[in-house]
Amino acid sequence: METTESALVIVGAGHAGSELAVSARQQGWAGPIMLLGEEGFLPYQRPPLSKAFLAGTADAESLALRSQSAYDSARIELRLGARMTRIDRAARYIELADGTHIHYSKLALCTGGRPRQLACAGIDAHHHPTNLLYLRTQKDAEAIRSHLQSGSQLVVIGGGYVGLEVAASAIALGAKVTLLEAQPRVLARVAGPALSTFYESVHRAAGVDVRTGVSLRKVHTEAGRIDRIECEDGESFKADMVVAGLGMLVNDDAARVAGLATDAGLEVDAFSCTRDPDIVAAGDCTVHHSPLYERTIRLESVPNALDQARAAAAWLCGKPKPNHGVPWFWSDQYDLKLQMVGLSQGYDRCVLRGATASRSFCAFYLQGDRLLAVDAVNRPGDFMVAKRALAKPVTLPPEIDLADESRALKDVLAVAPPVAVTGNH
Ligand SMILES: Cc1cc2nc3c(=O)[nH]c(=O)nc-3n(C[C@H](O)[C@H](O)[C@H](O)COP(=O)(O)OP(=O)(O)OC[C@H]3O[C@@H](n4cnc5c(N)ncnc54)[C@H](O)[C@@H]3O)c2cc1C
Repeated sequence: METTESALVIVGAGHAGSELAVSARQQGWAGPIMLLGEEGFLPYQRPPLSKAFLAGTADAESLALRSQSAYDSARIELRLGARMTRIDRAARYIELADGTHIHYSKLALCTGGRPRQLACAGIDAHHHPTNLLYLRTQKDAEAIRSHLQSGSQLVVIGGGYVGLEVAASAIALGAKVTLLEAQPRVLARVAGPALSTFYESVHRAAGVDVRTGVSLRKVHTEAGRIDRIECEDGESFKADMVVAGLGMLVNDDAARVAGLATDAGLEVDAFSCTRDPDIVAAGDCTVHHSPLYERTIRLESVPNALDQARAAAAWLCGKPKPNHGVPWFWSDQYDLKLQMVGLSQGYDRCVLRGATASRSFCAFYLQGDRLLAVDAVNRPGDFMVAKRALAKPVTLPPEIDLADESRALKDVLAVAPPVAVTGNH
């Protein structure tokens, strides 16, 4: 057993884990800090994996969140290639895959997620087709890049952000791309029809064969590789490579066994505390109650991972500061920067400000008079205004016309009186 006094052990060396380690040191954690992760790389940024890194305009060095010397000077012990397999809460230690036990005073779980696997007739769980790839890690991105050549036929399954970004990057590399989406439109889970229609038309104009409402019937393999994908309507798509972007599953195996996770993920409060006073958690692996939206949510975004990590560090250092960050996210495709703030689920009205044809517009999602969320395409100024406004609930009097661009957005949103919220945090 490795034992150290007042040791903070952080499992998962991604966005949340790296930030938590550095932030805990900055906020006054005096004892040892160990950051361990199963990947073999210094903690790195994931967003470029489907964007600049995949398209070849960013290299591996540029992905690192911090240099080795930054961890050294903050006296953070990095242990890479180390996988936690078990948590013993009573004895306060974790077990690694190689059998090592590491004692903790406080434990932070920042284990993120892994890609949801494609389930389809023709896929044998024991013989994974060599050209069926997923994208979560740097290794995944390197594998996709090494398969992508000019003229090669890529089939992307899933029209969410990752699928669309992979399609855009592959087109930039000269690949032929078909994108298959089961829902009637791309981005169906996260955006309204106007955004979906816009992004479908942009991808089609760039040369992506976008198919929506598609059900897969069978994956045909030859010599261990997918040769073609057959759909329920009888149409088939030849493939040199298939990338499935079907969302993620939470990495919570050990936390579940230790009684810290529900079906949705590890439950934390606004201080990133779990139900065990010695264990905090942050990032994609968590769920929390949102007072703003009055429901339990799981956010898969860098800003949330960083906010929760900082809140966890503050709490661990005896300086509790609740995290009430508003959800936000971004996606880069072609020349388009999409920035989203708030959660649009449950909206009953969508108002566009600016014309989609201009490739610079906002979509406002409202439920009655309440503004729930804003998507901004190539409008960073409006996004910043919306992000500031949505930090609190916003109601808009019916006479306000969000589409009227004769008034600056900051003036329009400034008039909105706040709504009372009944959240319990
Ligand atoms: C391709 C792609 C593009 C994205 N683009 C954007 C974007 O544009 N904007 C945005 O906001 N977000 C984006 N995201 C989401 C964003 O990357 C995540 O929200 C963020 O990485 C979450 O950070 P995390 O630290 O919670 O988890 P992760 O970054 O997943 O890190 C978790 C780490 O824990 C390790 N781990 C897991 N289990 C164990 C274990 N048992 N023992 C040891 N180590 C373990 C994992 O190997 C991993 O390294 C993107 C994600 C992907 C995959």
